[in-house]
Formats: sequence, structure tokens, C-alpha cells
Amino acid sequence: MDQINQDKSLKCAKHKKKQIELIQVINTQNENQNQSFFYCPGCIYEDQSFDNSKYLQLDEILDEGHKNVIKRWPPINDYKIIEKLSNLCLMEDANAMMQDKIVNFFNKLRDDILSKLDIMQKKMVELSLQNTFQKQKLVKQYQDISNIITLRQLLLNHEGESSEELQTRYKQLVKEMEQKKDQTTNHLQSLLNISQTLQGNVNFEHAAQIRNRIISQIDEITFFNQDISQNNSQHANNSSCQQIVDQIVTLVSNKTNFCSDAFLLSLREQLQKTDPLLLTSISNKIFQENKQPIDFYKLNEEQLQQISEFVHHSVNLAEDKNYENQIKDSTQIQSLITLIGSESDLFDDENKLQLKKFFIEIFPFLKKININRIDRKNIQNILPLINFKQLNPCNLVIQKNEDHSYQIKNQSNDSAYYCYSDLILDVNKKYIFKFQVKMKNPNSFAFVGLTRLHSQQLAYNHPVLDNFSLILTYENSYIKKHSNSGIDNQFKGSSFQFKSEELLLELRIDLQNNILQISDLPKKENMLALTENVASVLFQEKNLVMYVSVRGEQCECNLLEAKQVNQFQ
Ligand SMILES: [Zn+2]
Repeated sequence: MDQINQDKSLKCAKHKKKQIELIQVINTQNENQNQSFFYCPGCIYEDQSFDNSKYLQLDEILDEGHKNVIKRWPPINDYKIIEKLSNLCLMEDANAMMQDKIVNFFNKLRDDILSKLDIMQKKMVELSLQNTFQKQKLVKQYQDISNIITLRQLLLNHEGESSEELQTRYKQLVKEMEQKKDQTTNHLQSLLNISQTLQGNVNFEHAAQIRNRIISQIDEITFFNQDISQNNSQHANNSSCQQIVDQIVTLVSNKTNFCSDAFLLSLREQLQKTDPLLLTSISNKIFQENKQPIDFYKLNEEQLQQISEFVHHSVNLAEDKNYENQIKDSTQIQSLITLIGSESDLFDDENKLQLKKFFIEIFPFLKKININRIDRKNIQNILPLINFKQLNPCNLVIQKNEDHSYQIKNQSNDSAYYCYSDLILDVNKKYIFKFQVKMKNPNSFAFVGLTRLHSQQLAYNHPVLDNFSLILTYENSYIKKHSNSGIDNQFKGSSFQFKSEELLLELRIDLQNNILQISDLPKKENMLALTENVASVLFQEKNLVMYVSVRGEQCECNLLEAKQVNQFQ
């Protein structure tokens, strides 16, 4: 500074030896033109009307002019402005203080977040031990329930023991375990339930959303008021943007789309960076009127898999005839059709057709049912085992249909010809045969019932002579019972006649229990049983077979179903 003073020091023009100390800055225009603006101490002394407030110290400009606000420079209308600016400059340390505060704020925030994260991390890891599936825990509980360790010990530690002794101990253990089989089943079932629930109990998406929210919140931290007001106006915008982003991601992440977590995360990140104007320009009316997305997210993996299969199946069914035929021929569908077919009193033909169509439609869901087992256990279709025979002359027309049912007609009008199934009925089994009788002319007759498998010599006798038959005839628009030939005991209803040209009949056979009954289908309002004196000896018969006989033109007695059942419904 001294150097500046020395180099640039100005000498007073009037008082040659003295240095200029003040320069005039105010009211310069009003002064006499010859008046000097530069004053040395001599000039000050001589000027009677010297006014200090109009001057500026030369030193101040030289020393401070390059780094501070000078109070009387430049000339302005309101010097208070410059004075305040100058005063502000005195607070030069405020900036440094503020920087410290900002750094402190972030340090504290970082520490707070880290310690909070630590706490939450520990808490979640701990919860994951309790609330998620763990093999170790499952195996431990399985061991407690199953006693497998005891079994293992038993098999490992048998030194000095004979094989018989070991077996005795083993048998004892199995016996104990068998005694509490019900309890064990319940315990293992509930272990399975709990484990499956726990396995589906994890959701990373929610935490990822929170992490994104925290990160975007950190972006909003500011210490400057103009940012805050800008942020506030943006905030309303941002929160609606956030909503739109959430909605888009929710739609895309629909579980039926099977999107990966990585894709959804990057989609969210990209959407959050998108121009808010673009985002908010998307219509708020996302869904069609009165429509809401299906709650697929509530389904478990197995259910989703089934739906996926179902859709695949439906598309194939609509597009590929071969596929449709494959499904129709599948064991599942065939077994179900047999099953329904055996319930003729529950379903009429129309119902059966609808059910068949329905089963084909929902085929993927049928896999769960073990139909074969049901079928084998309760009902067995023996229609394919039925093989009708007749004696010469072969005047009956016996036509076997694709579904193994039989159409049986008489070619001539002169006699009641008959045919018999060569399947000898098992005394210990129960059978149901379903017949369709059609007749429209007087002097038509239809016979159904059982006959003894006669030796060749007796074979030409009509089976009705064995007295295990029902004879039907057609009279005045009625199909009705003709005369007594065994199945004659009115077991249910008051008569056995039906105003129709067509009649469905069910024949029930249970030889062991002396049961031979015929009822009308589908309602079974009328039932005829075997006359008592014949019934009591039915179980003694050895070679009974089912037979059918018809007489008359346009008279038919068709066998529609034959099955073996566990019990009659
Ligand atoms: Zn002077």
C-alpha cells in the first residue's frame, strides 16, 4: 500500500509540496469551474466553507477501492444504498459460516440415515429369520413331529444286538408312530401350510419404492429460498408425476406379465427422469368405464401357473382342431364322461352335452382331480365287456355304436327273438343296466331281465321262462307292464305304465342281496322288484346273464349303459 501511495501520490497544484488527501465527489456540477476537485491539507485549511461530507479520502480509494464498497462512490441519489452495501461487506465471514452449516447438515443427515438404516437392516434380517421360509427350521420341526432321529439312532446303534431284537425295537417304534398317525398328519399339514405362507411372504417391490422416494426427496434438499419456492411449485407437480409413475409401474408389473424386478426398477427410474409435462399430460382416466384391473397380484404362483395354462389351452382350443380332439380323447375327459353317464338320474342328455363341453373348456383345472381313482373305486363302465349273442335264426338286428351302446331291433313280426350277453353276473357284485325301449304298434313286446346260461339243448326255450323278466307291451299310447314274469312286485309307485312311445329303464342287480329291480328314468317314480318267492333264492343262482328280447316292427330295446357299482344311489 505504501508503494501505491508513493508511486501514485498526487501533489497539490497549488501547494506544491503537499499531497492530495481528498477528492470531491458530491455537488461537483455546482462548483466554480476553476475550483480544484483535489484537496491537500492546505486547500482544506484555506477553504472557509469546506464541507467534509462532499469529499472522499484518496487513501480509501487506493487502499480499498479494489476490494470493498466505497461509501461515497459512485455519485447516486441515495447514499444509504451504498452505505448498506458497505455494511453487508463487513459480514464477510457469513458465507464461510453458512458453508460450515451446510456441511454439518449433510454430515448429520448422513449419520442419522446410516444409523437408522443400520437399525432397520438388523430389524429386517431378524424378522426374516422369523417370517420367511427356512429349510433348517422346517427340517427341525419335521424331526420333532416325525421322530426320524429316534429311527435313525435305532438303525445306527445296534451293536451287540441281534437282528430280531433290532426288528422288535423297530416294530415298537412303527407301532407308536402309527397310533398317532392322525395327529402326525395334522401337524405335518399345518407345517406345510405355514411354510408355504412364509415362502410367499417376501416383497422387495415396496422397499424399492421407498428407496426411490427417499432418493428423490434428497434431491429436493436446499438452503436457498428461491429453490424452495421453485420446489414448492414443482412439488405439487412432482407428486402428481409420482402418482402417474406409480400407476404405470403398477400396470406393467401386473403379475400375469411376469416382468423381472430389474426391468421394473429401471422402468421406474427412467419414468422418474421423464419430463414432468410429458407425464402429467397422460390422461387420468386410465381404465375403461366400470372396469378395474383383475386382482392377479392376490394369486399365488400355482394359481397363476394354472391361469397361464388355461389361457394357452383356450387359444389352442379355438385355433387347432387336432388339439381339441386330443383333449376330447384324454383319459380325464373320457373318465368324467363315463362318470356323468353313470348318473343318468341326475343328468339328462342335454346336461351331459353341456358338461362335456364345459370339461373340455376347463381341462387344465381338471388335472388336480384323480378321476381314474374315483372311477375305479366307485363305478366301472362294463359296457365294453358286453357282447350280445343270439341263436339261429338271427332275426334280431344288433348294432354296436361308437360309445359301445347297442341298438337292438327285430326284423320280423312273428316271434319274440332274443339275445343275451355272455357276461356271467358275479354274485358278489352290483350292476346297473340302462335300457331305452321304443314301441308304437299294438302287439309289440319288449323283454328285459336275467336268464340262466342254458346248456345247448335247452337254449331254444325263451328266457322269460326263467321268471326273472319284465315284459312290456304297447297299448292305447301307453308302454306298460304286460303280465307277470318275475319282476312284478310294485315296490314304488302305483302302476307301471307310461303314456309315451319311448321309455328309459334302469335295471338293478345285486344277486347276493336278492335284488332285481326295474325303475323308470329319470325320476324313478315307479319301481318293480322281483316277486318275493323268486327273490329269496336269487343268490343261489350260478350262471345268470342279462338278456333282451323284442317283437314287433319298429320295436327297439336298446342297451345304453352297463356299469358295476359299489352301491346303488
Ligand atoms: Zn492544496
